[in-house]
Amino acid sequence: MKKKSSPTCPECGSTNCSESPWRSDEERTAHAGEQAYRCLACVHRFYVPRRRWRPQDHPVVAAVGGGTFVLLVVVVLLTGWWRSGDRPGAPEMNRKAQPDTAIDAPPASQPPAPDN
Ligand SMILES: [Zn+2]
Repeated sequence: MKKKSSPTCPECGSTNCSESPWRSDEERTAHAGEQAYRCLACVHRFYVPRRRWRPQDHPVVAAVGGGTFVLLVVVVLLTGWWRSGDRPGAPEMNRKAQPDTAIDAPPASQPPAPDN
């Protein structure tokens, strides 16, 4: 299991590269947000954007985090809808009773039942 994935050398295409220390503060400032790499195959030195945390690198975390985020949005929206609705202070249990009352109500198109 590799923890760090090496960048690809722009010179020879090798991925056998290692982070290279900055030669000076000037260089680091000039390449802010980047990281210097040294290709171990052709000794070419190059800069790549510093790796940021990307969701695709952590699929499990992204899935859990994303799911939680979506759930949070849904909850917030539902809460907002619930509070702004016309049933102030209605307990959540009432939500389950709603379909029952709908079923109890006879359909408008129901034909009259025979008398005998
Ligand atoms: Zn190279």
